[in-house]
Amino acid sequence: MFGSPGSGKGTQSKYVVDWLKIPQISTGDMLREHIRLGTEIGKAIAARMRAGSLVSDELVNQLVYERIHQPDCKRGFILDGYPRTTAQAQEMMRLLATMGAREVVIHLVVDYNVIIARMAGRRVCPVCGTLYNSVSKPPKVEGFCDLDGSPLSVREDDREEVVRERLAQYEASTMPLIEFFRKSSERLFEVDASKDRPEVVFGRIQQALLKAGVLNSGVLKSCSVSKDIPAGVA
Ligand code: AMP
Repeated sequence: MFGSPGSGKGTQSKYVVDWLKIPQISTGDMLREHIRLGTEIGKAIAARMRAGSLVSDELVNQLVYERIHQPDCKRGFILDGYPRTTAQAQEMMRLLATMGAREVVIHLVVDYNVIIARMAGRRVCPVCGTLYNSVSKPPKVEGFCDLDGSPLSVREDDREEVVRERLAQYEASTMPLIEFFRKSSERLFEVDASKDRPEVVFGRIQQALLKAGVLNSGVLKSCSVSKDIPAGVA
């Protein structure tokens, strides 16, 4: 699942997890867990992670290899934050081929002006962490938390210049991967995620997954198709 910051990637991944009952594998979460536990790997990567640099391809490839061979991944899995480099993408394709698994690449395509406007409207309560959005989830009293009345603030990484920088970084690192998948995957889907509500975007993802023909009867049996798939999709 590829999507820029603010594209709704987290929300959409969660929908797919709930729908297909398959695990979501986030390399960022796995790496943070190593740091939290103070493992050898954690000690080796802490400085790079703090600096926001990528850790080595060998390490993340190995972590992903071990994770996707766990029993809960037998019916499929969602990769989030991986691959991040072309070398990782090549290794991923090789790994999937050896497992007899097929990839579907979902690219959530968003208009950057929409993202900037959306993220610029985000506010957070510095006390309880509740998130607000001036458009989609405004507080009852402008500028103050509904729960504890604290003045709301803008998260450091939601500031416009930071958002622009994160989008530029995303563009530079992800576009070559999308190009790679354009050439090497028969199942790359560009999903418009700019304006519509999250459920509508999810309907498009469901459509893509069904069209890709990767949902075998085992997977479909575990989700109630008629209930879970929006009208017109199946
Ligand atoms: P994330 O939570 O996906 O934003 O990842 C947080 C950090 O973990 C990144 O800034 C990198 O330092 C590291 N990381 C996560 N996934 C990868 C990956 N696939 N390749 C290299 N480094 C990664």
